[in-house]
Amino acid sequence: MPLIPNASQEFVARLHGIVGDAGLISAAADIAPYLRDWRGNYSGAARCVVRPASTTEVARIVKLCAQQRIAIVPQGGNTGLVGAATPDNTGTAIVLSLTRMQRIRALDPVNNTLTADAGCVLQAIQQAATENDRLFPLSLAAEGSCTIGGNLSTNAGGTAVLRYGNTRELVLGLEAVLPDGEIWDGLRGLRKDNTGYDLKQLFIGAEGTLGIITAVVLKLFPHPRSACTALVALSDPAAAVALLTEVRAALGDRLTGFEMMSRICLDLVVEHFAATREPFAARHPWQVLIELSDTLREAGLEERLAKVLEKALEDNLARDVVRDVVIATSQSQARALWSIREQIPLAEKLEGKSVKHDISLPISNIADFIARCDKALLTAFPDATLVCFGHLGDGNLHYNLAFPGSAPTAQQTSAANRIVYGLLDELGGSISAEHGLGQLKREEITLRKSLIEMNLMRSIKRTLDPHNIMNPGKVL
Ligand code: FAD
Repeated sequence: MPLIPNASQEFVARLHGIVGDAGLISAAADIAPYLRDWRGNYSGAARCVVRPASTTEVARIVKLCAQQRIAIVPQGGNTGLVGAATPDNTGTAIVLSLTRMQRIRALDPVNNTLTADAGCVLQAIQQAATENDRLFPLSLAAEGSCTIGGNLSTNAGGTAVLRYGNTRELVLGLEAVLPDGEIWDGLRGLRKDNTGYDLKQLFIGAEGTLGIITAVVLKLFPHPRSACTALVALSDPAAAVALLTEVRAALGDRLTGFEMMSRICLDLVVEHFAATREPFAARHPWQVLIELSDTLREAGLEERLAKVLEKALEDNLARDVVRDVVIATSQSQARALWSIREQIPLAEKLEGKSVKHDISLPISNIADFIARCDKALLTAFPDATLVCFGHLGDGNLHYNLAFPGSAPTAQQTSAANRIVYGLLDELGGSISAEHGLGQLKREEITLRKSLIEMNLMRSIKRTLDPHNIMNPGKVL
């Protein structure tokens, strides 16, 4: 149970002086949800949770913490998956939640930009863009609760990276409170600005270790007028990669998403979500979800995709590679297909704990990786189940290992990681594609990045945060 030690009562009272009743949570029962991560893998303690309502309040809080050398754990929607928004167990840190800062500050349809407070929920930003006939393309299953500040801080990926890039590529400017409490106003809406180091990029993907993002300027895009969603059943990941290559070559930037999932993913979703219907009459080992979009209303996307799939079907029939195809004929069918993909993480969570890997590889090495890694893992753990899905178009797999009936032991986790990471090293991959390092991978990364790279990261951290008050124990 987190305690508020007497010595910190004065400090908490000063925080209260900044944010008032509405911005301070200190009762143990009320702060509990802020002290545990979404997966339930990490928990910690804190003096209190502080919820400022403005950038000025954030700055005053940080200044106070800097003076007293009190650690700050920034938190958005707390949907992160690597323990990066969870304080340690000492109870000495404060959690600074951005969730009261939810204002869309401006939307410029000519410049195609949206400026928002960091605590805006991603879905609210998508909606604001849509209401103005624009698209903000970042999309992920946690979009109803994750915040844009959290998205920037984790450089979130999601399902439209293939066409629009990671969060990093969707940001034109930001405002941040630095670890000494100064406010840096970098809220520029410029697509071209070669005036020295691109400082905003330091804060993107920093997981709250370099400062607190308080506002952002985001790129908007024309809203698509037509879309087409299809689910294709395939024999194996090599077929999925081949199909990706063909669809991309034929349809170019109209290809917005290309998600792959193994059969077990469908089983989990069907088991845990009663409303989910089997998309195919037969069971198939692999499926890909394809999303196309176009700004033209009559883009003929279905016909174009059908043509590519027909050709793939003809070319591959003899080898039994492409096995079945469903093309959504209504928006509700398209939503139903997407919800299968989006519910996989939740279905996995309901199923129990597993060893999770959020990894990336050159797309050309994905099929080889899956074939070799499946074999190595199932040799080491014959009773285990492999759950593989992910953003194939970005070379990003969620490659998880479950031990039915029991949570993985530390020994099993470590042995599985050695196999997966060893093969990633051999095939030019990364141990964190989109979730970040947080607490989960901060040791592991030191084995993979060169000393030069690690020292560069450490010296940036020391320069900006010499007293190590910003989210200590994460990333580095
Ligand atoms: P939090 O979890 O609160 O924080 C994450 C990190 O950012 C922490 O280090 C925190 O300290 C820091 N932080 C938060 N706000 C700020 C701020 N304003 N300033 C400085 N630091 C800050 N991620 C993907 O990339 N792609 C996916 O497809 C995806 N799918 C998901 C599906 C589900 C069901 C769930 C639960 C999560 C998924 N995630 C995915 C992970 C997660 O949603 C993202 O990492 C998201 O960007 C985190 O946002 P958040 O507001 O919840 O951040």
